[in-house]
Amino acid sequence: MRHIAITVMLLAVLSISVSSLFSFDNGQQAQAAEVQVETIPEPIYEFGLCVDSFKVVTAKIKPNQFLADILLKHHIPYPIIDKLVRETKEIFDVRKIRSGNTYHVFCSNDSLEKANYFVYQPNLVDYIVFEIGDSTVSAYKGAKEVTIREKTAYGTINSSLYQTLADANVSPKLAVELSNIYAWTIDFYRIQKGDGFKVVYEERVVDGEAIGIGKIIAANFSHWGEDYYAYSFAQNGQEDYFDEEGNSLRKAFLKAPLKFSRISSRFTLKRYHPVQKRNKPHYGTDYAAPKGTPIMAVGDGVIIASSYSKYNGNFVKVKHNSTVTTQYLHMNKRNCKVGDRVRQGDIIGYVGSTGLATGPHVCFRFWKNGKQVDHLKEKFPPSLPIEKQFKADYRKQKIELKNKLDLVGKENKEVIS
Ligand SMILES: [Zn+2]
Repeated sequence: MRHIAITVMLLAVLSISVSSLFSFDNGQQAQAAEVQVETIPEPIYEFGLCVDSFKVVTAKIKPNQFLADILLKHHIPYPIIDKLVRETKEIFDVRKIRSGNTYHVFCSNDSLEKANYFVYQPNLVDYIVFEIGDSTVSAYKGAKEVTIREKTAYGTINSSLYQTLADANVSPKLAVELSNIYAWTIDFYRIQKGDGFKVVYEERVVDGEAIGIGKIIAANFSHWGEDYYAYSFAQNGQEDYFDEEGNSLRKAFLKAPLKFSRISSRFTLKRYHPVQKRNKPHYGTDYAAPKGTPIMAVGDGVIIASSYSKYNGNFVKVKHNSTVTTQYLHMNKRNCKVGDRVRQGDIIGYVGSTGLATGPHVCFRFWKNGKQVDHLKEKFPPSLPIEKQFKADYRKQKIELKNKLDLVGKENKEVIS
């Protein structure tokens, strides 16, 4: 159907002298068609439609503007619009059309200027084409080709990484990506003036225009005068970032803060509180264990609270990276003070029942981006180093990427500072 439509449109572009060819016999047609190729420029296609065959109106959906408002203006009677909405619902529900997104109306190239096609772009890549015939309607989905080009950026930080990138017109998303890669290595709240970075990253391009960033391929972050390299590499289908030695830049958390324990109460948004005798959310996981059992930090980090409160009893809070903080409640005794750096497995206190507790246990709380979440439902892929079998490949890729990184800023013109 679509193919036929395109062919018909293509023919419509041809001049009158060519349309008269249809009455000729085959041999003459072929000859004349050859001549035609020389005189008519290549037709331009967009969304699978021949742009030259129509008057194309391009605009953005206005607030509270519906498909009907647009199509009525382009001489489509309401019954046809209604038919279009109903019959193409399976492909795209027009109620999902959002203001601010781009649309195109392909109108007939005559005095009527009647809409033949309506194209909606929910984003810069995807599109839906609605075909509006006199009695039949149809729709199809498509996607523009996204190409990837390699880009580099570098800079010296004066305020924040985010600001440095924003000032230089580089997507601040790059800052988010960088802080994820270096979450365990660099505390982005303690960035020094003069710290710097170099990045090789992917840029996503549609129709020759950048639409966003893809993954970071390699980076070097210089922090307090030290270089921290990160190289992307895939082993066993799992992509991760590794350092110079081939160790993962991520660190996994321990599953529980106690070695031998049982879960006595899970994270839930609603539970009957045995002491307070009412339903209230439980934002932690309780691990029951005998009084005095050592409590471990589930990951490397810094102690940001070590104190006592009426409900929590003796508790400790550990900041692990820029996104994750953990908290341990009802300790009998604390074994750390604010500012201490701890390693995964370090004993930060001992099980007790201080505060609001019925028996000895740790109430373990996991904060992610400032919100308490069920750590048992969080997915933490293991942070394995490069396996023996991939070491040679990794080394080769690493050298290549390091050379690339070291050149960034030397022959590159996109200076960010
Ligand atoms: Zn609890």
